[in-house]
Amino acid sequence: MGSTAAKAVLLKDKKILGWAMIPTGWSPQKAGEEVLQRAVDAAGITAADIHRVVGTGYGRVALDFLDKAVTEISCHAMGANYYFPENKMVIDIGGQDSKVILVNKQGKVINFLMNDKCAAGTGRFLQVTVNGLGLELDQLDRLPPAEPVNINSMCTVFAESEVISLLAAGTAKESIVAGLLKSIAKRVSTMAGSIQENVNVTFTGGVAQNRLLREMLARELGVEVMVPPVPQIIGALGAAIIARNIG
Ligand code: ADP
Repeated sequence: MGSTAAKAVLLKDKKILGWAMIPTGWSPQKAGEEVLQRAVDAAGITAADIHRVVGTGYGRVALDFLDKAVTEISCHAMGANYYFPENKMVIDIGGQDSKVILVNKQGKVINFLMNDKCAAGTGRFLQVTVNGLGLELDQLDRLPPAEPVNINSMCTVFAESEVISLLAAGTAKESIVAGLLKSIAKRVSTMAGSIQENVNVTFTGGVAQNRLLREMLARELGVEVMVPPVPQIIGALGAAIIARNIG
């Protein structure tokens, strides 16, 4: 139950049976029930077939149908391990926070750092500034390649006005987008470097869908950055793995 999106993953043994994702909206409880039902439908099973439910994310406290609630840090670690068990670091950039997690080969958390105090380096920062350019997030990878312009403001509100000034000065949108992505890559890689250097990374969360950011992050860190097929459902997948393991 994320700040922006609610996700559900159904797991049987090691196989993903089905998954779903919807906006969290104003009611995490309602979104939780609905997203679970959608995953049930996608898997072609019935709700009665579910043995256990583990909830995670900021809205997990609102859910009254859980067998257990687990932090999203543990869940992203476990979910990332499903795809890339050799990678020692997980970087998650979601709607409201960014995290760097060190994991062992079993997907257990060894150490972590989280930025949840300000929107800089989060999906919210990207969403607000990109909307200020009249663009949608899924258009970003289709923009022509461009030199990143320097974005000085870390704060979302100031960055938004900086973007408007850059536009007024005739700076190309693609250069501004590259600059915004670079500022996120720099901020997150500084956080990553402060807990461990030179380890391969699994990149999760909604923002990991952006190819340019993945490349920038790999360049900043000087390591390989690997992205699971649907990076936004990795926290929910980790919750499902934990649900299976407590049986
Ligand atoms: P949360 O768990 O906090 O809800 P998510 O991991 O679901 O966060 O990620 C949500 C964020 O993903 C949104 O804030 C949005 O900025 C970002 N996002 C969604 N689609 C894309 C995309 N195509 N490219 C980059 N970022 C995206």
